[in-house]
Amino acid sequence: IALSLNACKVSSQSNKSPQQEKNIEQKVDSVLALMTLEEKVGQMVQYNGSWDVTGPATGTTNEKKLERLKKGLVGSMLNVVSVKNTREAQRLIIENSRLKIPLIFGYDVIHGYKTMFPVPLGETASWDMILAEKTAAAAARETAASGIHWTFAPMMDVSRDARWGRIMEGAGEDPFLNAEIAVAQIKGFQGSDLASENTIAACAKHFAGYGFAEAGRDYNTVNIGVYELQNTILPPFKAAANAGVATFMNSFNEIDGVPATSSSYLQRELLKEDWNWDGFIVSDWGSISEMISHGVARNKKEATLLAIKGGSDMDMEGGAYESSLISLVEEGEISEDLIHDSVKRILRIKFHLGLFDDPYKYCDESFEKSEVYSDKNQQLALEAAKKSIVLLKNENNILPIQNKVKSIAVIGPLANDKDSPLGNWRAQAIQNSAVSVLEGIKKHAPTSIKINYAEGAKLSTGERNFLSPLTINKNDKSGFEEAINLAENSDLVILVVGEDAFQSGEGRSQTNIGFLGVQNELMKEIQKVNKNMIMVLMNGRPMDLTWSDQNIPAIVETWFLGSQHGNAVGEVLFGKYNPSGKLPVSFPRNVGQEPLYYNQKSTGRPNANSEVTYSHYTDAGRDALFPFGFGLSYTNFEYGKIQLSSDSFSGSEEIKASIEIKNTGKMAGAEVVQLYIRDLFASITRPIKELKGFEKIYLEPGASKKVEFTIDKELLSYFGRDKKWGTDPGKFYLFIGPNSTELQQVEFQYK
Ligand code: BGC
Repeated sequence: IALSLNACKVSSQSNKSPQQEKNIEQKVDSVLALMTLEEKVGQMVQYNGSWDVTGPATGTTNEKKLERLKKGLVGSMLNVVSVKNTREAQRLIIENSRLKIPLIFGYDVIHGYKTMFPVPLGETASWDMILAEKTAAAAARETAASGIHWTFAPMMDVSRDARWGRIMEGAGEDPFLNAEIAVAQIKGFQGSDLASENTIAACAKHFAGYGFAEAGRDYNTVNIGVYELQNTILPPFKAAANAGVATFMNSFNEIDGVPATSSSYLQRELLKEDWNWDGFIVSDWGSISEMISHGVARNKKEATLLAIKGGSDMDMEGGAYESSLISLVEEGEISEDLIHDSVKRILRIKFHLGLFDDPYKYCDESFEKSEVYSDKNQQLALEAAKKSIVLLKNENNILPIQNKVKSIAVIGPLANDKDSPLGNWRAQAIQNSAVSVLEGIKKHAPTSIKINYAEGAKLSTGERNFLSPLTINKNDKSGFEEAINLAENSDLVILVVGEDAFQSGEGRSQTNIGFLGVQNELMKEIQKVNKNMIMVLMNGRPMDLTWSDQNIPAIVETWFLGSQHGNAVGEVLFGKYNPSGKLPVSFPRNVGQEPLYYNQKSTGRPNANSEVTYSHYTDAGRDALFPFGFGLSYTNFEYGKIQLSSDSFSGSEEIKASIEIKNTGKMAGAEVVQLYIRDLFASITRPIKELKGFEKIYLEPGASKKVEFTIDKELLSYFGRDKKWGTDPGKFYLFIGPNSTELQQVEFQYK
């Protein structure tokens, strides 16, 4: 049964009437009719503009860029920041060019513009879609206030490899959760109408397969077949298209031999035709020209030919379209219709954004001053940070910290770090502007507790930034003695360890997912003198926590939580906030288990208990140390029995699965109730369980709530051997529980 295809219009969530839509299409056509071929191709060119556009151009490249701007031969710029610069770049076009077609300015606003929210993997741990929408809307407001119209987010690359440096930038290992959070973020960025104030165009990236780089090595080969592509990688993208995302970005990687940038299957057949999506696709940085290095094009002209035929509409700083598209048309290699399709898509978004009505739409310096880094956004950053914290271990309820504790030693290279919490993709965040964990602890600890601090050791030395490699401190233990003495003389130790923000991000893959530098030694020395320890973990990837789990009574996962990091941690440690985050990604027992994910497929080799996943190692378990969906609370939630409204259904009927959850502890708290499904028989191999629903509920002590999920045929559908989406009749398992392993199971039939 093929799923009905919705029309995926950019405007699908806008308030525009069909008549208004029609007017936009007429305007697009009338502008196109006025354009020369050179001007059309110009729209398909995007320039990096990270120099001061208001000053003299530096170097011949920038001089050339300025000249082309004045002639109206550029469609978009990225990395132009501040109202002053965007206004000037826009002015160059509007005051000098023949047709005055406004530029669209794009920027990587991944988890905030100046106010930083948690990194996406962290925010996903909140499983709070309203929150994800609110933080995206706040980021959009700050971005718009700085003259920018478009963010290159959300990244919805499903990723199951902790080694991959960009795992922090997405929503983890599950397609369903990735899709939910992507849609929430798109709603937040784009609002109900792209033309309204303070909304920006979003970008679904990287299309597609980028998160499946072999061995977690960034940019590497992706070897997956069409079923994995369809069932695992594409669902978030399809959801984004349905939600009316304005743009897509393609991807550096190849899939099964074909660079994504030239994939007409992905870009033309699926996205533009089957999904009927009418926005535009920007290439990733230079990914068109990179097809020369991929070895599928001999020069920029051949790369251009592959990319345009493959459906890429705009060339990000690659110089390929600019140098070769015109001649390809003139030589008859491609029809001008291909150019028209791309240009119409780009103009359409510019009209939707209202840029033709006001090219200086977001160019108000006073608004920039009042909106960016506002108190309101700091409040939201605190809420988001608290909700993203995951309590991984809490032996003997050592947390929240009790009043009998009189002295705390705060130790570790990240304890007083005001910069790493800002994450790697930090847009315009001011360096060192986050609240450190130490500051948060001091602020939230009762005055009766004495707080002392010793760094113990540095994690890195030298330059820390987006471009330079990080130098890890492997030798300097000069701070150990002070830290050990402090630990010995304190009631409790809080260890703040993990990763520097610049260990994750683009090109930052690692084979070691443990604690780099001298952190292991430091922890072991401290543990010898004081076993009363709490580990506060800062990191952008699942880490190997085996030693920590065996030796440290409490582990608090805090990712990179953004501007308010320390305050959120302080509130959690001292019980002012009850943690409710759940892992969006499995934490392995060691790196050798990677890629590790809960929704693995059945194999042909059962074990003695007829479990279908006998596939195993002889020296390590097959299961995660901390599984997908896992997270503790300061209270307890009791799950009732699953009730099914019927144990079978057919056609377009539906059934309900419900369960009663009770807060049996003493503290109010939130719980994420998770629904998983397994299809026992299908035309292709299927996962042993798949997340298909969740609800986050808040319960006062003693209170209970019934949670209900609807199961219909669409929820059970998959891309099968007939190369269609459909649902097979047969038996299914349905599971509900607090994480992907502690599940209750029932059966039903789809007839
Ligand atoms: C990244 C993209 C990003 C672009 C622009 C590329 O290197 O892969 O995700 O949007 O740069 O900064």
